[in-house]
Amino acid sequence: MKNIDEILKEGKNTRLLLTAFQAILDDTPSMVFVKDINHVYQAASVPFTKLVGKNVREEIIGHSDYDIFEDKNLARRYVADDAKLLATGEDRLDYIEPLPDENGQPRYGSTSKYVLKDAEGKPIGIAGVSRDITREYLANQNHQAEIEYLFDLPDDTYFAAFIDINTWRVITERLQTIDGYSLDAHENIDALIQAAYSNVVDRKDPAYAFYRYFSKDSLRDIYANGKRDFTLEYVRRFSDGSHRWVRDEIRFMVDPSNSHMCAMLIVRDIHSQKENERNLVWAAERDDMTGLFNRAAVLKYAKAFLDKSGEGDLHALFVIDADNFKRVNDTYGHQAGDVFIARFAAAIRECFRESDLVGRVGGDEFMVLMKNISGADIVRDKSETLVGSLKNVCSELSALDVSGSIGISIYGVDGYTVDELFEKADRAMYRAKNHGKHCAYFANEE
Ligand code: GH3
Ligand code: MG
Repeated sequence: MKNIDEILKEGKNTRLLLTAFQAILDDTPSMVFVKDINHVYQAASVPFTKLVGKNVREEIIGHSDYDIFEDKNLARRYVADDAKLLATGEDRLDYIEPLPDENGQPRYGSTSKYVLKDAEGKPIGIAGVSRDITREYLANQNHQAEIEYLFDLPDDTYFAAFIDINTWRVITERLQTIDGYSLDAHENIDALIQAAYSNVVDRKDPAYAFYRYFSKDSLRDIYANGKRDFTLEYVRRFSDGSHRWVRDEIRFMVDPSNSHMCAMLIVRDIHSQKENERNLVWAAERDDMTGLFNRAAVLKYAKAFLDKSGEGDLHALFVIDADNFKRVNDTYGHQAGDVFIARFAAAIRECFRESDLVGRVGGDEFMVLMKNISGADIVRDKSETLVGSLKNVCSELSALDVSGSIGISIYGVDGYTVDELFEKADRAMYRAKNHGKHCAYFANEE
């Protein structure tokens, strides 16, 4: 091939080459430009014209960076870069530089700039070729950020693993002990998955199914559905056997170096946060004085339980009111009355199973849902035991004749809903009061 000086001397091929150059400028997907020694544009490809927001290259040719770039800092940067190259006469290849924003989103280009020289080797201008690499650049940046995360685990992170889904390998795994709790290291991805699902405490938790069926295909499905990250919160068994709340975060990404699909798996500690939330719920549902459920909570849980019951199930709803309680207040004062209520409540609680629902529904009025009883005679026995223990509740108050009156309704016999059953038990309780107190009445008893 002839060199440019020869071509110029002959003068014959100049037109041919310039026409070819023009065709290339019209066709190339690259952003190509030529500037003279004074930084004035002399040629531009179609993508470059578009990049600077112009329609035709005539709007560029004859103008400088300051004329065509709205962002004057960017223009200053381009001119300064070019001046350096023109001064040294050296090309600069494949470097990343910012491009003008597109709708406020940053863009990046990979650019090469060639210093154009005259026959004596003196710089006479610059030719630039640039490609928009925004997507690769941002993907790579995200990827770098993820990788760095692995080497600098946040304080709340027990475990982070970077896995290559294509090759089904754990690329890197890191572990950290938090407050003496730790997870075990894994030999490979299959061991990691097995440890994950076998340590989900509740097998019905979605986290169990997720890890149990964790596979290349399940991950590809999630990715194909457009999910790039998701979380699972569950109680996990730790190596020392303790159970703690964790949040797993799974993030998908493509490794820009080989285009493999990858996932970052992170296990974070959320135990104290969950405990606090639970304590708040606990407090909101309790009656301060007795520690039993308050009215709203006991009715809510009774309703939820009865909604799930059906034909053949037998439950009893007790309404219990202290007899002659006002005498305690009147004789010993309100504080003594409060102490009495707490003891009265404890006596009721002790009479029933842990699984039965017990709540304070009013000042000296309580409700119990006795669940899954085997027969009505059991309920009769229970009510008699209860009347006895309520009579003994404060032996030093025996002179005041305090005890309890009880009304009982039966699920399936007196009704099916908590409202119906409560109303009938409450009326039966008033009948017990009217019949001399210290006794129990069933809803269907006169
Ligand atoms: P009866 O045998 O008919 O049930 O009469 P009683 O004296 O037990 O009185 P009643 O059940 O009609 O009323 C309950 C009283 O309990 C009314 C109120 O002064 C008192 N009381 C309600 N809440 C509290 C409380 O939290 N602390 C104290 N000390 N007294 C309360
Ligand atoms: Mg009372």
